Amino acid sequence: MLAAHGGEAPGGDARGVSRFPFSAAHAQAIRVVAGWMEEAGLSTGCDEFGNLIGIRPGRGDGPAIILGSHMDTVPCGGIFDGALGVVAGVEVAAALHESGRRLHHALAVVGFADEEGHQFGVGTLASRCVTGGIPRERSALLRGRDGRTLAESLAAFAPGLPRCAFPERAAAYLELHIEQGPVLARSGRRVPAVSTITGIARTAVVLEGESNHAGTTPMTDRRDALVGAADVILAVRALARAAGAPAVGTVGALSVSPGASNVVPGRVDLSIEFRTIDGVRLRNLCAGMEAEIQQVGQNRGLSYHIGDWDLRDPVPMNEGVQRAIAQAIRDAGCEPFAMPSGAGHDAMNLAPHMPSGMVFVPSAGGFSHSPREWTDWEDAALGAGVLARTVVLLDEAGR
Ligand SMILES: [Zn+2]
Repeated sequence: MLAAHGGEAPGGDARGVSRFPFSAAHAQAIRVVAGWMEEAGLSTGCDEFGNLIGIRPGRGDGPAIILGSHMDTVPCGGIFDGALGVVAGVEVAAALHESGRRLHHALAVVGFADEEGHQFGVGTLASRCVTGGIPRERSALLRGRDGRTLAESLAAFAPGLPRCAFPERAAAYLELHIEQGPVLARSGRRVPAVSTITGIARTAVVLEGESNHAGTTPMTDRRDALVGAADVILAVRALARAAGAPAVGTVGALSVSPGASNVVPGRVDLSIEFRTIDGVRLRNLCAGMEAEIQQVGQNRGLSYHIGDWDLRDPVPMNEGVQRAIAQAIRDAGCEPFAMPSGAGHDAMNLAPHMPSGMVFVPSAGGFSHSPREWTDWEDAALGAGVLARTVVLLDEAGR
């Protein structure tokens, strides 16, 4: 059932799926998924941030169990990232609808509008807006790649659905997502609960030496900022490796000035990012890196500036929800286990506001944010089954 619909990614082509928030492809995808939602007995609409919401009332008037993920993709992304969680949520609603089973809780299925941050440069934007993580005054000022503000993009966005509010009270948030890395596929296991969503610390570093003639400046007289940057890059790698998995460290952006083959580089701007699931270790990595940069400055005769760290703490998933997911995994005939998420997800924004949990399925070969992204349909269906069973367990436990 899932396989019949999950591969249809509106806006997709052979080079991958590029479904940007508030684009025509996004509006079209919303209409398609809204149609599936209606067939599954959900009443559907969009909230003020362009999030697609389908709701099925419960027997009581208690809080809702929310299933969700995101509708948008990175440029030339895969067909599973985000879409799987939304489609699986609809499939859970459809299965309940077809069986005639009424839950005590209301059930909501949400397709968040903007998670990847491609359009406005802010990751998990839509779920941060919904939960008040980005105040309205700030979100109204954001400008997209097309120069339009978020407010203008939303005003022009016409998915053709009635207005529908995000559930005010929630008993739980559940998100099925592909792992997006090679760890799960390599483990030989198929369906874990997520224990913690990684913390992330980022900063921008400037190293300054002296630009000079590359032919006439002897090696002993150089203050080469790029050589210092090379030391810094290797130090990021060494610190992350010393911290052990799942800690990772990356220099993903670097600019060299003046950037000519016959000039000794006088200045390098670079980004540093660390991720790990322990807040103390994350801070230790930042402090260790500052000491390394100071050492590089001394060794290479460079001045340096380290920007303020933008640090987001790790977000543990709710223990009660993790237990329900573990039971659902057991009920599916698999050995329950949990693993951390190295990627950020909408669930990390929902978690401070409601008990939240995630279910992962393997990414074949570890590819994601790529047209090569793939998850076996059997694994996708297994994940959707665990999601459905978790809903039933939480519904029974919370009545
Ligand atoms: Zn995603």
